[in-house]
Amino acid sequence: MDDREHETHDRLTRRQSLAKAGGLAALLAGSAGWKLAAGEDDADAAVGPAAVASGAVTCVLAPEQTEGPYYVSGAKVRRNITEGRPGVPLTLRLRVVDASGCTPIRNAAVDVWHADALGRYSGVQDQAGKTFMRGVQRTDASGVALFKTVYPGWYPGRTVHIHVMVHIGGNVVHTGQLYFPDTITDAVYRRSPYRSRPNRQTRNAADAIYRNGGRRSQLALKRLDTGAYTAAITMGVHRS
Ligand code: FE
Repeated sequence: MDDREHETHDRLTRRQSLAKAGGLAALLAGSAGWKLAAGEDDADAAVGPAAVASGAVTCVLAPEQTEGPYYVSGAKVRRNITEGRPGVPLTLRLRVVDASGCTPIRNAAVDVWHADALGRYSGVQDQAGKTFMRGVQRTDASGVALFKTVYPGWYPGRTVHIHVMVHIGGNVVHTGQLYFPDTITDAVYRRSPYRSRPNRQTRNAADAIYRNGGRRSQLALKRLDTGAYTAAITMGVHRS
């Protein structure tokens, strides 16, 4: 177990302790920590070191998960990563906060990559030399990195996911994966072009990587009138 895993474990233990002490109801009823965990951004008044010290706020440390075999370094700095490829439009709103103080981290480089609607990664295998569905954005003053992409397709053995890496000052401070509610994926996959590949194999609960903390990396999805989706999450990280 490395340090980060220790910290994750410590936080889990603390949360479990709160639950045991009868604090769970309070935690669920409206603490800023819970809001942050759900990816919302209206809790600024209740964040900061004082709120953390008082126990009113606990940022959820985003779980570390494997980068997998398809990371390619040097992705382009760009917001729209689709290169015109088809799929249900998805706006990704990734917020990076310091897990020690729940404060937004500005100017972090957020690197995302995922399979296209047909389950293929660019840059590898028969897609070598291509760069679709990969990109980097800097976080703004609110800690937010915004991407325009499409809902990812599936590939054998994995549930639907987006890979993410956060760099600060040249150091990788977080490597993780982001997940989608299965029921929403089911609805999206009934649409074109996903429906040309029916019967996806692996859902969240059966995914070996998801099972190792993935529930805390589930995106909050919202369907727009246009049929497009927005997906948001707040990722608590340590600066070094
Ligand atoms: Fe993957």
